[in-house]
Amino acid sequence: MRRDSKVYVAGHRGLVGSAIYRRLQAAGYTNLITRTSSQLDLRNQEAVEQFFRTKQPEYVFLAAAKVGGIHANRTYPAQFIYDNLAIQTNVIHAAYQSRVKKLLFLGSSCIYPKFAPQPMKEKCLLTGELEPTNEPYAIAKISGMKMCEAYNRQYGTDFLSVMPTNLYGIGDNFDLQNSHVIPALIRKFHEAKVTNSAFVEVWGTGNPRREFLFADDLADASVYLMENVSAIQLDGFVNIGTGQDLSIRELAQLIQQIVGYEGEIRFNTDQPDGTPRKLLDITKLSQLGWKASISLREGIVQTYEWYKTTVY
Ligand code: GDP
Repeated sequence: MRRDSKVYVAGHRGLVGSAIYRRLQAAGYTNLITRTSSQLDLRNQEAVEQFFRTKQPEYVFLAAAKVGGIHANRTYPAQFIYDNLAIQTNVIHAAYQSRVKKLLFLGSSCIYPKFAPQPMKEKCLLTGELEPTNEPYAIAKISGMKMCEAYNRQYGTDFLSVMPTNLYGIGDNFDLQNSHVIPALIRKFHEAKVTNSAFVEVWGTGNPRREFLFADDLADASVYLMENVSAIQLDGFVNIGTGQDLSIRELAQLIQQIVGYEGEIRFNTDQPDGTPRKLLDITKLSQLGWKASISLREGIVQTYEWYKTTVY
């Protein structure tokens, strides 16, 4: 990518897309193209094809998707499979038709089998049953990756797919019902501190282990891969994570400390633990020459600052 290449960031208002947009701006890219969903409905094939015909982007970051936690996935399974299949099919196909030089598709670590051996290697894709609650979403994401691979094979395109671990960061969703654990706990500890509550409720036993990646680190990896790695070198897709996990108990203690809350942590074991452990194998990513640079503490500090100034 040259600094003046036309780069389209699809989904530039989301957690990942906004981080990619910031990263590109910081690196001096001057020709960034964006559209909000009301300006361009990516589920509308004709609109997408017209957009690509007229704008002719050279590089595409496909970070537009319908996303949500377990509750949203359970309530809107049809929208999760339809919206994601439609968005990615339209964008990937239009990118091929208008000869986009390179595209990067964002997958998700929930595409791996529910009982995949830990840490999860790229090769364990499609070796077992998926987690039923987010199967429609996962099937859509797997289709997007396979579509990129098929287009590369048949049409010689240069379409990359990446598989990020659990993400958090600036622009996260802090809704208590639908959010993931980091934004939920930032909000719970902050509200408890402000209202002087005696305790904060953390779901489950605190024993499950998770890996977390700051969205700006994912953006850095995505731009690095676009700049340095071809689909042929990538040979399929690559996991993006830190290679380190921690227990939910340790995570809660870390957030408690960052927020400066002095009350008690109570584990509510009526709430589900979910998968006991979710950690990506990042051997391939390391071999490609990239590693995460923002520590979990630093990322949570930044996310908490953003929450206090923007959301709370
Ligand atoms: P998961 O990785 O798909 O399980 O996504 P989550 O981020 O929703 O949950 C991760 C772990 O954090 C699970 O073991 C949850 O039970 C636990 N957890 C603890 N407190 C909370 C909370 O307030 N909200 C959420 N979403 N998870 C929590």
